[in-house]
Amino acid sequence: MEISVKQLPSGGFGYDFPTISITPLTFLELNQYLEQVPTDDPLGKYMFDIKVLERDDKKINDCYVMDVDFLIFFKKLITVSEDLSYQIEITCPECGKKIKKSISFDRDIHFKQIDPNIMKGARINLGGHVYETIVPTVNEFLKVFDRYLRYRSVTDLKMIKTIALIKGDYANQIEDDVLGAKHSDITLLMALRDLYYDRLEPIEVYCPECNRDKKGEERRSVAVSVDSLIVDFFRELYINSPIDGSKILFK
Ligand SMILES: [Zn+2]
Repeated sequence: MEISVKQLPSGGFGYDFPTISITPLTFLELNQYLEQVPTDDPLGKYMFDIKVLERDDKKINDCYVMDVDFLIFFKKLITVSEDLSYQIEITCPECGKKIKKSISFDRDIHFKQIDPNIMKGARINLGGHVYETIVPTVNEFLKVFDRYLRYRSVTDLKMIKTIALIKGDYANQIEDDVLGAKHSDITLLMALRDLYYDRLEPIEVYCPECNRDKKGEERRSVAVSVDSLIVDFFRELYINSPIDGSKILFK
């Protein structure tokens, strides 16, 4: 299916193509995915997911990382669900009760609004150095990522993504300034991360037990991050794509 770049978290800012093509995994591809995905290695898994998207559309390499993170989620969603809805089960942090909720793509998945000025990047002061930030495309990100895939000096994907936001010729200095950030520099990096990567609003889930007899503002929700939903996505295929009597009839 073709997705308009306007529907992506970046709003399609600066793209010179109107759509990106994403298809659900077939049974064969899903089996290969589950067999080959490096589950215990977040860096390898991320690279693997990018390669899977690349098979659908080479333009993925020119997409911003923020959009690719969404497209990874979207491809998994259309693989497990025909109607873009998804069943989740979370544990209420207050009472420990399991809460089931059906997530609908149109109703529950929202991006934070993006400001075109933000997409043009910024000048920042970090660790006593002045840098320009970029909104990395996959191509740009992979130049930074490659070094960590090879040497593993940093294994936290979020950290590597943060390093990739900063443009400069001195890779070691940028790495030191990010990893060694203190006080307001930490706040700055968290703000950048929030602006350029965490574009999906968390999903609000209400525990029926804890909110019994409560109305309006009294009700307290649990925020579920969409990221956390992707982890074991395919295991839930059977729950999300059940078969009915029209699919199988035993003799
Ligand atoms: Zn509860």
